[in-house]
Amino acid sequence: MKLIFDKGRSGRRAYRAPACDVPMDSAVPAAMRRSAPARLPEVTELDAIRHFTNLSRKNFGVDSHFYPLGSCTMKYNPKSHEIIARMPGFAGLHPWLAQLPGGEKLTQGALETLYRQERFLSELLGFAETTLQPMAGANGEFTGVMLIAAYFKARGKTTRNVMLIPDAAHGTNPASAVQAGFTCREVSSDAEGNVDLNDLAAKLGDDVAGLMLTCPNTVGMFDRNVEQVCKMVHDAGGLCYCDGANANAIIGRVRPGDLGFDVMHTNVHKTFSTPHGGGGPGAGPVSVVEKLRPFLPVPRIICKPDGSYALDHNQPQSIGQISAFYGNFGVLLRSCAYLLMLGRAGMIRVSENAVLNANYLRVKLAPYYDQKITRMCMHECVFSATRQVAKGVHALDIAKGLIDRGIHPPTIYFPLIIPEALMIEPTETESKETLDEFVEAMIEIAKLTDTDPESLHDAPVTMPVKRMDETLAARKPDLAAPLH
Ligand SMILES: *Cc1c(COP(=O)(O)O)cnc(C)c1O
Repeated sequence: MKLIFDKGRSGRRAYRAPACDVPMDSAVPAAMRRSAPARLPEVTELDAIRHFTNLSRKNFGVDSHFYPLGSCTMKYNPKSHEIIARMPGFAGLHPWLAQLPGGEKLTQGALETLYRQERFLSELLGFAETTLQPMAGANGEFTGVMLIAAYFKARGKTTRNVMLIPDAAHGTNPASAVQAGFTCREVSSDAEGNVDLNDLAAKLGDDVAGLMLTCPNTVGMFDRNVEQVCKMVHDAGGLCYCDGANANAIIGRVRPGDLGFDVMHTNVHKTFSTPHGGGGPGAGPVSVVEKLRPFLPVPRIICKPDGSYALDHNQPQSIGQISAFYGNFGVLLRSCAYLLMLGRAGMIRVSENAVLNANYLRVKLAPYYDQKITRMCMHECVFSATRQVAKGVHALDIAKGLIDRGIHPPTIYFPLIIPEALMIEPTETESKETLDEFVEAMIEIAKLTDTDPESLHDAPVTMPVKRMDETLAARKPDLAAPLH
């Protein structure tokens, strides 16, 4: 097939931009201007549309394929939320408007959606206050541990500089802690996937500022001792952080604030169904207990006694502003719509179905794939391809084999504490029929492992891009390589 560049003919146009009414000479310094026009393909609108439509069809997305990517919660993103986020009254607002003289009056609706969403999340998760500013899960973690650092600094306890990280934590947790100036100390898990309480006791001390617990953790387990873990950390003078990126397993059923956590983040682009992938955009709201409230990022959105909304910069103990403006407004509108659409009863059904779907797969696939921890899981189930490895088929081969069967691969080789891990998260929005198709594909691959393991080494064979060198593809991607 001809590439779009080969189809171009001088003078063809898909769109004509209006003449520029900005004097070019003054607007852009000479050194930054092009000396020759960009070499763009000159094609008709139809050729441009076909180019992008065909490219999009070569991709895997949650709107086209089952996407059980563990820890990523690729649930359905309701399309009605897109309409809401594009309403001119929201989409046309300039982000500075609220801070210009008289601007607050013109942005009451936008401020109210943010203010109310902060209240919804605080109530749903069991905390005193929430900030919507962080623009991703990891950005939320960074904000959360900065709050912990600010808390101890305000109390003169600057020697508490260690963050405890269980080995079943998400990889961003230690990265965020280090970024905020902490040193990490690992705590091991027990055979059931809980924090090992003996190891925790041994790792606690005067230098510990807190513990970051991924809840549910990356093995898909809810820590049975979570309240005890929080108590032990508190007794030792530390604070507890909850990584609730995948709170779809627990929302409506249990409130992390009630369990003893002091601060937590959620990912709206996982738990609250805003679109994600390709690195963003997202949002990672952070909720806190009362004693951390003074340190929250500015500006805060407040409701004045007359019922109007305003931005408050006057928070002397705040850690400052951690993202541009007030966060990812367009994304937060979608999560606000989701919260309003589902309500309290809907949230409970979300977590029930997320857990039901994951356990359905766990039990159906148990005869074919090994599991290191066999108790009930939460939003995801983790298998270990150890039985298949004995026949020369690795987790990677299984993942590639699924692509040929029209399924996005699960997360593989993570969590690190499970060898040859296959981390499968079906999400609550999939039907039983789709789950059954997936089970069939996984069983077919398990059987191929016995009869024709070689064939799995070649997978995927049905895709425009075949098996590639993953390291090279990540380090030196050839984005212009023709797709066949
Ligand atoms: C996805 C995820 C994160 C990181 O979220 P980003 O938005 O990608 O920064 C953190 N913790 C857990 C448990 C996650 O699943």
